[in-house]
Amino acid sequence: MPVETLPVAEVCRSLGSGLGGLSAHEAGARLVRFGPNAIAVAGKRSLLPKFLANFTHLMALLLWIAGVVAFFARMPQLAASIWAVNVINGTFSFWQEYKAEKATEAMRRLLDEKAIVVRDGVVLQVESISIVPGDVLVLGEGCRVCADARLIESADLRLDQSNLTGESRSVLKTHGEVSCRGMSRLEIPNVIFAGTSVVSGTGKGVVHATGMDTEFGKIAGFTQGIAEELCPLQREMRRVTRVVTVIAVCSGCVFFLLAVTMAGLSWAAGILFGLGMVVAFVPEGLLPTVTLSLAMGVQRMARRNALVKRLSAVETLGCASVICTDKTGTLTQNEMTVREIWLPGAPDGGSLRVTGAGYAPDGVMRRGGEVVAASPGGGLHGLLVSAGLCTNARLQPPGDGRSRWTAVGDPTEAALRVAALKAGIDLATEEQGSPRLRELPFDSRRRRMSTVHRGDGEILVHAKGAPREILELCDRMLMNGVEQPLDESARVRVMAVTDGYARSGLRVLGVARRAMRGDGAMLDGPGRLSTGDIETAMTFLGLMAMMDPPRPEVQEAVATCRRAGIRIIMITGDYGLTAESVARRIGVIRDGRARIVSGADLDTMDEGALDEALSGEVIFARATPEHKLRIVAALQRTGHVVAVTGDGVNDAPAIKKADIGIAMGVSGTDVAKEAADVILTDDNFATIVSAIEEGRAVFANIKKFTTYIFTSNTPEAVPFILFALSGGRIPLALNVMHILAVDLGTDLLPALGLGAEKAEPGLMDRPPRSPRDHVITPGLLVRAYLFLGPLQSLAVMTAFYFLYWTNGHWGEWLDLPSSGPLYESATAMALACVVTTQIGNLFAQRTERVSSFQVPAFGNRFLWLGVASELAVIAVIVHWPSAQRVVGTGSFALFNWVFLFAWAPLLLLADEVRKWMLRRMEKTKHTGVSS
Ligand code: ATP
Repeated sequence: MPVETLPVAEVCRSLGSGLGGLSAHEAGARLVRFGPNAIAVAGKRSLLPKFLANFTHLMALLLWIAGVVAFFARMPQLAASIWAVNVINGTFSFWQEYKAEKATEAMRRLLDEKAIVVRDGVVLQVESISIVPGDVLVLGEGCRVCADARLIESADLRLDQSNLTGESRSVLKTHGEVSCRGMSRLEIPNVIFAGTSVVSGTGKGVVHATGMDTEFGKIAGFTQGIAEELCPLQREMRRVTRVVTVIAVCSGCVFFLLAVTMAGLSWAAGILFGLGMVVAFVPEGLLPTVTLSLAMGVQRMARRNALVKRLSAVETLGCASVICTDKTGTLTQNEMTVREIWLPGAPDGGSLRVTGAGYAPDGVMRRGGEVVAASPGGGLHGLLVSAGLCTNARLQPPGDGRSRWTAVGDPTEAALRVAALKAGIDLATEEQGSPRLRELPFDSRRRRMSTVHRGDGEILVHAKGAPREILELCDRMLMNGVEQPLDESARVRVMAVTDGYARSGLRVLGVARRAMRGDGAMLDGPGRLSTGDIETAMTFLGLMAMMDPPRPEVQEAVATCRRAGIRIIMITGDYGLTAESVARRIGVIRDGRARIVSGADLDTMDEGALDEALSGEVIFARATPEHKLRIVAALQRTGHVVAVTGDGVNDAPAIKKADIGIAMGVSGTDVAKEAADVILTDDNFATIVSAIEEGRAVFANIKKFTTYIFTSNTPEAVPFILFALSGGRIPLALNVMHILAVDLGTDLLPALGLGAEKAEPGLMDRPPRSPRDHVITPGLLVRAYLFLGPLQSLAVMTAFYFLYWTNGHWGEWLDLPSSGPLYESATAMALACVVTTQIGNLFAQRTERVSSFQVPAFGNRFLWLGVASELAVIAVIVHWPSAQRVVGTGSFALFNWVFLFAWAPLLLLADEVRKWMLRRMEKTKHTGVSS
């Protein structure tokens, strides 16, 4: 029998389960029998094509051809070396890509979905992949359904099935048995399907199909692979590499012609020149290094509690110019404690102070110095019971690894339960005596929640929520045990009390109740009462004001954002005055003229008025997710790069629209997490700022190693130019093999080391870069090719001549021996000098503006590993005869190393002077502007 036609009890029996779910043991056994609850991913590229792709791209093809040319030009040794180098380069690139992919995959595993189930009668969270038929799924707003299940409980449960049906309107699901004649499977109201998500309401379902057996699994179209797209930065680097390659080939051809026509060289020697230029300028290892450095950025962000789902988000984070953040839980701790209770008509203005901290039920209610008891039948008792019964949260006492009382569920609700406990009210007994029949769930648009309970021959409704929204439902108010009409002046008084609490940063909830004649039958069936019928004619009981302290680290993070030119716009569902008080306390607004725009105000504003509001300090209160979406769009229209936080189902559109969508890992719904680019595992605003810092650092690092790699191109090209321009009278200081040894032997690992640099001091003291800024800027090219490069060339040519001069050719420039041991030793000196000066360059590149001596010398072990590797490679090339033969170098006396290392600080010190001048110029500009 299909599960949809059976009554709940029989469905459970047929699946060998019950309302208490499976036992853990049975679930384990079924996992073995049915396999993991996962959809097979097709279309993932296997390793071999990926490996081969590294040998068939433009640059690799060019090197293959270069080898062929060398071979036919009767230079087989060179040909073999170029090919070997191509193989090494391709393998290294593949290794880098593979590592980057593994890092991203590890990240995806961290993002694996979780599901809430009942097992052994206990509600617990498990990995979605371990769900088996018979498991009882617990569903709440924003949950992603991870298996096909037959509903056994439901309360206003609405699902978004658009993933399966394409229909964007949500559908109502109920748990009763139905005859489904004429319905398509996806229309059956009591079955829920994997791949859909809960838009509102709650429910439970017993799983009957998992993995590829689900409707989702059966739809072949959904089994496509994960798109492996390049992010804009990778695309830019690929473009740059191509442009540079074309330039290198063109200059190679020009040099070939120059060498043959002007220097009168043979064709073979001319070809050698051409090849030299090509090989010198082609940035072989750049793209894979960029990819790996982005992936390393992702790993660093994960260590700082930000899980990045796409490489492109790393890059965009670095450009963020506005963060739209909610308040509760992100800027504040989301650890609520009721501090004040207000009862209408009570003496002393009605305010009671509640003592105690956190979720421990230790504390009392005081009026002045006097402890007030909540005696049954009294106003305080009624308020606490109504508020307490209208909650889904649970409190957990210390024990079982917990050092203190903790809350499971919504902290606002937990705080209400704690307040009831402090007054000695046993909510479990109250719940037993008045069982819940229905729930009208909380959502951020309604800003309230109600529960309907069975009373003594009557139905009781308890409601709590934002004071204005609760007052709207009430026509009476309980004053000193007597119900009185709630007139306009009473409403004004309640709102004045609310404002008073809100001004001191407290979050205020109103509480109401209603007794209706009737029984449970009114809540079921076709003529059942609607939300509007239930939430009306209520009696207002009082206010409860709770404290949610700001997170301690947020103030510093907010200050960092100010220095970094990043605006913070708080968009909260909370009340304006509460939001303002918190915003001022943490420094989000400082200006006396800051605007507090409510959702209602925003509705009356046109785009121009909104743009104007957004141009100054502003926070948005009582805002809905739709408002959030509108604000994001307005900011983007004015050119901002916007990061937006969210947690609810309704936040998903704003998260998607944002340049960087950020979901809360702890309190966020699956839907929000799915829409987001970044997930915060600690829900903390400060984490967003750390992620932005990492994003900036990754971009800066890519610039650093690009400059590093480009710099050594100049001393690689200069010997060819000098040789050609002197008509062959200046011997060639570096040949093609030497260039390959630098580009692919000594430069690669140090460049990777620069990719692992931490953010340099002051990185967050600058405004964000524009997303249109490129890595390769004229400034970078000038620095590499016209400043550091020529200095390095000077050192290299000096080292080359030094060997001649100290070996019997003192003061001679031209017509020196261009073959034989002396020449080979001189080329070894030139090559070693490239390496030693690159070490200085490496340390120079660690910072862009501040002095390199300001960052800890041993703060980056990859850098030192890089230095060690390049020294090892060059030592082998210079002093090991077999390597000498391959590369074409000769040995030199050890004392020459002293000369070579003397040049090492050259680039570092020269760049220090440049940075110092840059800082001075910026300072002058700054003081000029401010005076
Ligand atoms: P933020 O948007 O910064 O997270 P918030 O938590 O106040 O702030 P919402 O969750 O949208 O935003 O809540 C809006 C209002 O609804 C709250 O200010 C409060 O008055 C009320 N509220 C919050 N949680 C509940 C709840 N569980 N039951 C009833 N009312 C609630």
